[in-house]
Amino acid sequence: VVDELTVEEQTRVRRFSERQVVDRAALDEILRVSLMAHVAVVRDGVPVVLPFACAPDGDALLLHGSTAAGVLRAGREGAPIAVAVTLLDGLVVARSAFDNSMNYRSLMVLGVPEALEGEDKARALNRLTDHLLPGRVDEVPPSTRRELAATTVLRLRLDRCSVKVRTGPPTSSADPEDTGDPEDDGGEGSVWAGVLPLAVTAGDPVPSPDVPAGIPVPASVRAAAVRLRPPTE
Ligand SMILES: Cc1cc2nc3c(=O)[nH]c(=O)nc-3n(C[C@H](O)[C@H](O)[C@H](O)COP(=O)(O)OP(=O)(O)OC[C@H]3O[C@@H](n4cnc5c(N)ncnc54)[C@H](O)[C@@H]3O)c2cc1C
Repeated sequence: VVDELTVEEQTRVRRFSERQVVDRAALDEILRVSLMAHVAVVRDGVPVVLPFACAPDGDALLLHGSTAAGVLRAGREGAPIAVAVTLLDGLVVARSAFDNSMNYRSLMVLGVPEALEGEDKARALNRLTDHLLPGRVDEVPPSTRRELAATTVLRLRLDRCSVKVRTGPPTSSADPEDTGDPEDDGGEGSVWAGVLPLAVTAGDPVPSPDVPAGIPVPASVRAAAVRLRPPTE
């Protein structure tokens, strides 16, 4: 696992290139808290993008689903895929609609995934389950042979990827030269601007109707809820 991400032509952010982050730790943090990725593939000449659960696995990203899922099948058959993982951190409210923005941590990965089989596949599925619900693998029976056979697991190495991050208050593209007066902000200072923070948070667990009274919420579900709490300053 490298400390710094390599930027190549296809993974170089062009717009606001100063927002590209090459620190590997930023990538790890995005994957640590992300539950979902959007996976794109070109199928019969047409681009398709669909959301999937995801989990980090060392120097790779894991995806899984039904063997019948089209995007996963294409990846299994050797098609290149692009994966986007996005954490939306806030609505950035500027003094003009033009300058509105979003705060985010965003990861994009390109590559041809490897389809896992046998022990590797079973291990990867456990890893996915434990990423979404930490410790759940030890609370339920192991996957059956039939379940394993019905599931595709793809492992995409994080060799070709980029991270882009926007933080902080709105910026203005208003140019004082428009009026010739460097003090003239067009009265904009009187208009509210700032950030509306956003985050995915967990609600209270809701038991299935057939769960007998008195069965406690398992540790895995409590752990998943804790992980989604916003970091305390
Ligand atoms: C939640 C969210 C909302 C956004 N909303 C808008 C919007 O409304 N309008 C808009 O123009 N842009 C928006 N962006 C930014 C957008 O994702 C691109 O960064 C932007 O279009 C500029 O891309 P580019 O031309 O520099 O790169 P491109 O030439 O399009 O891509 C070159 C390479 O740069 C890297 N890259 C580019 N963007 C990202 C990214 N976000 N994360 C990781 N790697 C990246 C990839 O490796 C890509 O292959 C948003 C981003 C996020 C995360």
